[in-house]
Amino acid sequence: MIIGVPTETYPGERRVALVPMVIPSLSKAGFEVVVETGAGAEAGYPDALYVEKGANILPDRAAVFSSANIVAQVLCYGSNDVTGKADLPLVRREQVLVGFLRPLGSVDAIQQIARTGVTSFAVELIPRITRAQSMDALSSMGTICGYKAVLISANSLPKIFPMLTTAAGTITPARILVIGAGVAGLQAIATAHRLGAIASAYDLRPAAKEQVQSLGGRFVEFPIEAKNAQDARGYGTAQDESFYAQQRELLSRVVAESDVVITTAVVPGKKAPVLVTRETVREMAPGSVIFDLAAERGGNCELTRAGQTVVEHGVTIIGRINVASEVPYHASQMYGRNVTAFILNLVKDGKLRADSEDEIIRETLLTRGGEIVNRRVREFFSLPQLVSQRAA
Ligand code: NAD
Repeated sequence: MIIGVPTETYPGERRVALVPMVIPSLSKAGFEVVVETGAGAEAGYPDALYVEKGANILPDRAAVFSSANIVAQVLCYGSNDVTGKADLPLVRREQVLVGFLRPLGSVDAIQQIARTGVTSFAVELIPRITRAQSMDALSSMGTICGYKAVLISANSLPKIFPMLTTAAGTITPARILVIGAGVAGLQAIATAHRLGAIASAYDLRPAAKEQVQSLGGRFVEFPIEAKNAQDARGYGTAQDESFYAQQRELLSRVVAESDVVITTAVVPGKKAPVLVTRETVREMAPGSVIFDLAAERGGNCELTRAGQTVVEHGVTIIGRINVASEVPYHASQMYGRNVTAFILNLVKDGKLRADSEDEIIRETLLTRGGEIVNRRVREFFSLPQLVSQRAA
């Protein structure tokens, strides 16, 4: 079985789906790996390293798609809504596609993918069970984003993070607030703490408290309680507008006192809640920084512009998207290991287990035989149940 790795085409994307170091374990399991020439270059993995580990380099994208049984990508069409569509004519029925497909994004894009007949697996849907931890690409990218958001914010802040006692006087430490203490938020807390800042975090899930504290952060608590704060998968849940209004009000004082605010509060498949208003931004000291990691999902700050950095009321609001691509070496290393673990579970003895009752395979399978077959995704978009699923 051949795994193909095309070059990523989303503008500015520097990651690659498989890195040279994962190739030996794939070869051992009987796979051949073909890589489009230059696919890993931007991430720090030149063609020669792939060849050294046993991969074959192919001259162009079409050659990779036409020879591969499994195509591994970072941003497939669906998540790559800028250039991804150009891949649709290259995808074949009988072929498998693995990558970020944004399954709860545009139903139209997913339907277009389905119509190619390809068997696609969305890494966003990997269940949060122990066995799938090594495949959890969302967590890997969240880790990278949380780390990088702190560094970029530190660079944009006209202050330093740590407390310093010098002959020129004492410098007080910067105050960092993280809103949304999931994987990215926790990594942001850990990174800010390591840099010497006073790091605090807030999350509507009470379970986050202990995790924040274990990383050296302070947990911000408010006298409001979310209804069913956490779903069965461990994700935060959507709340009603009156809850968000209370959050905005309670957060305003804590935000105003912070030098850097990193927001990551999202709910799967929903627009991100606005938790930081224009009025709150106005209360912040000039030079303060907001890094809105939820920018791509609508933003947690009212003034965020996705993909841009703006200065409003003297506050720098960073709405960069695709932040994981800014650390391409390690983001690709982590993603490559996630995808390798996923593929090794998907194929046994040279055979695809797409029909298997394996929870990981069943929950990530998005399209097959011309249709969107994922039950959760069909329900999300209110698509009628498939005949094959009715009896189940
Ligand atoms: P996420 O990216 O979906 O959301 C980020 C955070 O925002 C979450 O912690 C969420 O609770 C929070 N949030 C949402 N709405 C909010 C609001 N209105 N106000 C404040 N906070 C809000 O989350 P994630 O990073 O994927 O992680 C969610 C949880 O899943 C975490 O507890 C994480 O540790 C856990 N997790 C478990 C596994 C596993 O068991 N294998 C793997 C990864 C993550």
